[in-house]
Amino acid sequence: ANRIAGVARDRLEKLAAREAKRFAAARPRTRAALAAGAGAFVDAVPMHWMKDWPMPFPMLVAGAEGATITDIDGIEIDDFCLGDTGSMFGHSPEPVARAIRRQARLGLTYMLPSPAALEAGRLLTATFGDFRWQVATTATDANRFALRVARAVTGRPKVLVFNGCYHGTVDDTMVALVDGQTVNRPGLLGQFADLTAGAVAVEFNDLAGVAAALAQGDVAAILTEPVMTNSCMVLPDAGFHAGLRRLATQHGALLIIDETHTLSSGHGGYTKVHDLDPDILVVGKCVAGGMPTAVWGLRPELADRYVAVNANRASGHSGMGTTLSANPMQFACLVATLAEVMTQDNHARMEVGASRLAAGLSRVIKAHRAPWHVVRVGARVEFICAPSPLRNGTEAAAAHQPQLEAALHVALLNRGCLIAPFHNMMLVSPATRKRQIDRLVAAFDEVLTELFA
Ligand code: PMP
Repeated sequence: ANRIAGVARDRLEKLAAREAKRFAAARPRTRAALAAGAGAFVDAVPMHWMKDWPMPFPMLVAGAEGATITDIDGIEIDDFCLGDTGSMFGHSPEPVARAIRRQARLGLTYMLPSPAALEAGRLLTATFGDFRWQVATTATDANRFALRVARAVTGRPKVLVFNGCYHGTVDDTMVALVDGQTVNRPGLLGQFADLTAGAVAVEFNDLAGVAAALAQGDVAAILTEPVMTNSCMVLPDAGFHAGLRRLATQHGALLIIDETHTLSSGHGGYTKVHDLDPDILVVGKCVAGGMPTAVWGLRPELADRYVAVNANRASGHSGMGTTLSANPMQFACLVATLAEVMTQDNHARMEVGASRLAAGLSRVIKAHRAPWHVVRVGARVEFICAPSPLRNGTEAAAAHQPQLEAALHVALLNRGCLIAPFHNMMLVSPATRKRQIDRLVAAFDEVLTELFA
């Protein structure tokens, strides 16, 4: 009880208090600017989770380039958060910045396609495989629409999701598994519907559980990430994905793979690298180099079924789409990203850097005999303050140590390294330098020395 993940509580509290003070003391301009201007926003932030970062107050960012982010106090930080994947290929990749400047002279949104749309379609297929594409603005929307298509085509109500998953703020997925029962997640704001009418939760890596849920005959689709990246990082067992494919087909359900985070795996994402075979593929966040864009693709035969269902429905709103989606700026950025940024070469560079980072962090953990471990999926690295391996969302929830992790994050930030909030995720972009990686490993070592020595 006196220790959290092997760390003495008093040491942790001492570190947390000192690092919070140090963060604030270094940022007089930020403090003054927030005091003068933040009051215009609900709870003083333009998006609520900017307040959920572990720092005493948010950094006010003056600019970001490559893998470096600079705040208005002039402090340069090595950015391993990279907008929680939105900037996984680095901030403002030059081909994307150029595309934005060019398109800015040609209009920003028309509700009509541009020639670049056609080029984007070709590049999406070349990158991800034989799908028929639609463009949305957020991965949340792309998942929402994918799910709607699955229900429309199968005529079934439920989505099967894995306990602890996150696919954006898609209401339908906000269920949990408690004592073997699917329930609404606790804490949902303003949710009055019984979500269990449209969802069933199963543990990740539990094919028997998936088979039992599908046997009810009411599941339209399984929606999953290839790796659970939002519940620490839980890897699939050998054969898990093949099992999902087989069971989905056997029970007439569709398989939706959400690649939004696992695009880190390599060119074409985890699906391409590991030869998965989804009916629907979703990719968001960094797919257009940081310009708000997501895509969802249907296998050709599913696309035909969807078109037929759509043609035969009663007139009126379909419930699909948003006005600014598939705008010409998105297409310009998709083309630039797919053709010039999301390249084999860049993925190879990311792989080298991330493997250096994972090895460095593992070495530090071992040297301090911390009961922790490191998991990596391509460019995506996570340290987990619990012994390995984690096999599902329940184990991941038990491994998560918010108090310890928050103190660590601020301590790393004070040593020049920003990692993703809410868990311990680090991304290596093509722009990330070896010395930035080595600095993060050294900072991690320094903090663990204080916590464990
Ligand atoms: N899918 C996955 C796997 C995600 O992790 C997230 C966000 N973290 C989303 C979808 C939703 O993305 P967005 O918030 O951009 O809609």
